[in-house]
Amino acid sequence: MKITEFKDRFPDEHSCRIDFKLKREKEGVICKRCFHKEHTWLSKRYQWHCKGCGFRTTLRSGTLMHDSKLPLRTWYLCMAFMGMTKKAMSAHEMRRQLDMKRYEPVWAMMHKIRKAMGQRDKRYELFNSVELDEGYFPQATPIAIKLKRGKGSQRKKNVLVMAESTPLENVNTGKKSSHCRFFKMKVLQTGTADSINQELRESINEKAIVFSDKATNYIDIAKYVEGHVKIKSDKQSTNESLRWVHMAISNAKRTLLGVYHKIRGVNLQCYLDEFCYKLNRRYFGDRLFDRITIALASSLCIHAD
Ligand SMILES: [Zn+2]
Repeated sequence: MKITEFKDRFPDEHSCRIDFKLKREKEGVICKRCFHKEHTWLSKRYQWHCKGCGFRTTLRSGTLMHDSKLPLRTWYLCMAFMGMTKKAMSAHEMRRQLDMKRYEPVWAMMHKIRKAMGQRDKRYELFNSVELDEGYFPQATPIAIKLKRGKGSQRKKNVLVMAESTPLENVNTGKKSSHCRFFKMKVLQTGTADSINQELRESINEKAIVFSDKATNYIDIAKYVEGHVKIKSDKQSTNESLRWVHMAISNAKRTLLGVYHKIRGVNLQCYLDEFCYKLNRRYFGDRLFDRITIALASSLCIHAD
């Protein structure tokens, strides 16, 4: 969405609240106390009144925004900027665009929006043919950030990257290629086969066929999916069969390191969630903004966050 269009659609706090109300109702408002689904809307208070027990639910209650004091329009503007930038925007730049004084609330808001994106993408499993590989993302340790050391103090974080890829063959020339659909990227706590298998089971449908190289950590993959094709690790075969995961890994590194310079390991997953969310919706164009607001409307606050 363009900024001029944003100003027309959302001139004030009220217009944002009404939009958010409709999106939450579409996703379904559930009473926290009695799990009833029917409510009446108290328009003056911007709250839902449970028809079952009378409990009131505020607009933000239960979502990742529940403890934020920022106006809803600030959240909306932030989501508009995140949706309109093709790659990514730093919190410093966002703070400037939103004309806010402090950096921390802006960073926290962006981080929650990324979390909502991650929660939304977690609902989908990868099907059919799935390419799988690992990428190593440099991360700055807290000490390295403090001391502002160079690359020497950076450690790498292991990320499992998966891409749905449909094989295509040109009937005239016989040339083989593939078409990509959805991507997932998961930070691995350890690089062991167990941690890979756990992420794989959460991300890939059991009827899928997985393509990977012959790394020893991939030894158990066939137990969890319909088939596992191991590809010879030479340049030509990996370029063909693991084309999309490699493309995604190099694009993600370029985007993340270009914008954020230093990412702490604990935060890497959220940045990857934003990257994948946008990559998976690369053809959405101006509709992306509304999808992000829906992701936030359907987000769940988890107290561990
Ligand atoms: Zn109730």
